[in-house]
Amino acid sequence: MNILSVTSECAPLIKTGGLADVAGALPGALTLEGCHVRTVLPGYPAVLARLAPAPEVVLEFDDLFGGPARVLQATAAGLSLYVLDAAHLFARDGAIYLGPDGKDWPDNPQRFAALCWAGMVIARDGAAGWVPDVVHCHDWQAGLLPYYLTKHAPHVPSVMTVHNIAFQGLASPTLREKLRLDAADFTLSGYEYYGSISALKAGLIYANLLTTVSPTYARELMTPEFGMGLDGVLRFRRKDLTGILNGIDLDAWDPARDPAIVPFTTPAGKAPNRKLLLAEFGLTDGGGPLCIVVSRLTQQKGLDLLIDAIPTLTDAGGRLAVLGTGDPVLERAWRETAERNPGVAIHVGYDEALSHRMLAGADAILVPSRFEPCGLTQLFGLHYGAVPVVAYTGGLADTVIHASHAALQAGTATGIQIQPLTGAALRDGLALLCELYAQPAQWTRLQQNGMKHPVGWPASAIQYANLYERLANGSK
Ligand code: ADP
Repeated sequence: MNILSVTSECAPLIKTGGLADVAGALPGALTLEGCHVRTVLPGYPAVLARLAPAPEVVLEFDDLFGGPARVLQATAAGLSLYVLDAAHLFARDGAIYLGPDGKDWPDNPQRFAALCWAGMVIARDGAAGWVPDVVHCHDWQAGLLPYYLTKHAPHVPSVMTVHNIAFQGLASPTLREKLRLDAADFTLSGYEYYGSISALKAGLIYANLLTTVSPTYARELMTPEFGMGLDGVLRFRRKDLTGILNGIDLDAWDPARDPAIVPFTTPAGKAPNRKLLLAEFGLTDGGGPLCIVVSRLTQQKGLDLLIDAIPTLTDAGGRLAVLGTGDPVLERAWRETAERNPGVAIHVGYDEALSHRMLAGADAILVPSRFEPCGLTQLFGLHYGAVPVVAYTGGLADTVIHASHAALQAGTATGIQIQPLTGAALRDGLALLCELYAQPAQWTRLQQNGMKHPVGWPASAIQYANLYERLANGSK
């Protein structure tokens, strides 16, 4: 079966978050299920630089949303790609979604509409003889694609995956014609969203099937608290919505073979990495757990709440190393926290190799998100023997077994869950962490359980393959 995956980012070529990890790892896992995935990706400079010289041009457009464009067929990092080379949209320095002023590029609606249009043309006409059976659309950037398919290639089925409903791709209604959308569909049951165009809503309405990245987030999305205004649409499509957990790329994240770390296969083997991590962040060993945060610094991640709870950790000899970037207010708050408290250190920035070293050296990883569709860092934590301390929400609820009395007795616990997410509950969670860390046998058991927990793609790839099969057979 041929699958066309359409995404705005894809690891290791271009990444801002978990979407890239998923788009990069899922194709390989699906190969084992008999699916041949080709990925449509914007031709950002970083992506074009990874292609071999003179890639084959399989499609050309005289005018794709404001300028000429071509689709290049290439292989890079083991991925089969269709790269949309459109200089007027993607040949820009800096962040992929944001201009130099830190705000969304004003033409983001057109940039990603172009990606969707190219995806639709490949689905409708094929590219150099290759024709997809199913189109898989990721997040709002691919949201207009199910709409374009409905209008121009209705025989090709699509599945839309929500990686984070906070990002909806809203555009002014004045862009309607430019985005090649019919006026008749600017309605409640179409792509209209409170007077704006919503690319994500278009995807949710027009795709044949919907998925999101964990079973709990699938349920949460249908509630006003988490649905961010689209809960009604998702309740309407309840029977077409499935939560499928993300996995991690076990080739890129393998503690026994990871080139960024001192390799290990047991919790005890982490010791040299722990020492190096303390030194790298200029921290002393206080005798308590060495915790880490690896995260975008945004309101979603709940790290503002964590700041107030830190003394519970550091007073008990715990330490905290933070790697993150994002909201300047949060960056400043964390810098100030690190200046005030010698048990805390922060590295502001995005650094993939450092994130590996941190996972290898850490005793625990803290993920106190207000909402978390799936979350990957707690999965890295499990696999690298860094015990996850997480909020009980979304995929964090689905992947961590809380160290309750019963789970500890049964020897099944893998981490600590905080519920509800309040300052007091966070402090209690950190106190429990320090208590468990002080009991070496109990602590090692937690780490071992986590390291054995299945966090790869195989189980989820089967679920995606089954959905594709349903779509290709026309049973949806
Ligand atoms: P989200 O997609 O909401 O940012 P996820 O947990 O799903 O959250 O995925 C985040 C991904 O980005 C993980 O691979 C994580 O390791 C990585 N990441 C986040 N911030 C940083 C950073 N500052 N440096 C390196 N990697 C980071």
